[in-house]
Amino acid sequence: MNEKTRVINKIQKQIKDFVVPVVTVFARSQNPYLVLISCLLSLRTKDKTTVEASNRLGWVKTKNPEQTEIELGKIIPKDYWIELNTALVTFGQNICLPVSPYCGKCHIGDYCKKIGVARHR
Ligand code: SF4
Repeated sequence: MNEKTRVINKIQKQIKDFVVPVVTVFARSQNPYLVLISCLLSLRTKDKTTVEASNRLGWVKTKNPEQTEIELGKIIPKDYWIELNTALVTFGQNICLPVSPYCGKCHIGDYCKKIGVARHR
């Protein structure tokens, strides 16, 4: 286990009691209609939360979801790709908020470079 996978595991532990994004609930269902809706919603939202969280951590230096996906793919083991997005989105909606993240409650603070974080709680 390298540092990145250790951080992902810590994020997954911290978010286990949080509500996962509705697109994830749909995507995990066995209902093809809901899976399709999940894909369409993901395409529309463009997953800015993952971009922001990955850049704050200092893992990537990117501006959009496409670049972020490519760069994360270079540094994150393939086994973690599917859950990483859900983990970062849920984490970004509950702890690493876009404006004033909860760094005081964050379990990965020791691993985070806080890039671009002007103020936090
Ligand atoms: S320390 Fe703060 S900026 Fe870094 S991941 Fe945690 S909440 Fe986000």
